[in-house]
Amino acid sequence: MEDQFGRSVDYLRLSVTDLCNYRCQYCMPAEGVCKLAHEDILTVEACIEIAQAAAACGVKKIRLTGGEPLVRRGILDICRGLGAIPGIEELCLTTNGTMLPQMAVPLREAGVDRLNISLDTLRPDRFQTMTRTGQLQQTLDGIAAAQAAGFTRLKLNTVLIGGFNDDEIGDFLALTRDHSWEVRFIELMPMGPCAAWDRGCFLSSQTVLERFPTLEPLEAQGVARRYRLPGARGTVGFIAPLSHTFCAQCRRIRVTADGRLKSCLHSREEIDLRGLHGPALEEAIRRGIACKPQEHHLTDRPSDTPRSMNQIGG
Ligand code: SAM
Ligand code: SF4
Repeated sequence: MEDQFGRSVDYLRLSVTDLCNYRCQYCMPAEGVCKLAHEDILTVEACIEIAQAAAACGVKKIRLTGGEPLVRRGILDICRGLGAIPGIEELCLTTNGTMLPQMAVPLREAGVDRLNISLDTLRPDRFQTMTRTGQLQQTLDGIAAAQAAGFTRLKLNTVLIGGFNDDEIGDFLALTRDHSWEVRFIELMPMGPCAAWDRGCFLSSQTVLERFPTLEPLEAQGVARRYRLPGARGTVGFIAPLSHTFCAQCRRIRVTADGRLKSCLHSREEIDLRGLHGPALEEAIRRGIACKPQEHHLTDRPSDTPRSMNQIGG
């Protein structure tokens, strides 16, 4: 379905939990989140019903996210249900990778087509500092498990953070030489805990291109600009919401773990889908798509949403 600005909206990002086993400094407060009440979290059936209604509105791709989607009880049932919906052509999931050693094969069997795995640093000490509770090896083991399970075109999400990992850009690029992965550099967005961080933390993706001018441009994919190192097997992507506002190409809607439809990540506007079924549910999703805002205002001020990223799903 098209929104009021002629964008064809066909991509749903569905958050299945606000909980996480990590506490990444830019995403969550150290003490964790104020956990949603059990009855406020979408049930497995509600997730599937919402996805069915979204498919009826033209959604073709779904990404499961969180919090950490793999800590959600019933995640495999959700995957199986979503994968079976007519019209859903691609089912993806974004994860911090910790649970992939035991979950990669079941996820593949449950119908997940693609995985994005988040990895902000290749240094064990920095990894521990940034995630507060994590070990680098867990995520590396998760990546290996995903490969072994047949998830070949992996994307690694790396949030660029000035003063934290900008000296590792070359190490991340080097990963694409021998692996058919896409390393995706994401510009840090000022929301939640990092909204008040020093300006120097917010690096433009242009930094990478300036430091590595041999990167050769490829065709863009969705909102990602893409490049390749000469001779590399993998690719490099840039998600640059601040330096290259891509709102005109945005085809996404989001549903939070407590059932609120957000047609823009950075907007305060939400439509409560809980308790809606059948035509009423579909009508609410159509209303959300129709009033998708033209663009965000991150270049002028921090995100308008009072939610932090783990509550929306990235
Ligand atoms: N827990 C999973 C993970 O980390 O992949 C899924 C949820 S996480 C919120 C999804 C993505 O959002 C991660 O790649 C994370 O790095 C990214 N993210 C979180 N806060 C962000 C921010 N303020 N700016 C840019 N990306 C952010
Ligand atoms: Fe958890 Fe992902 Fe947020 Fe890190 S970025 S705290 S792994 S939800």
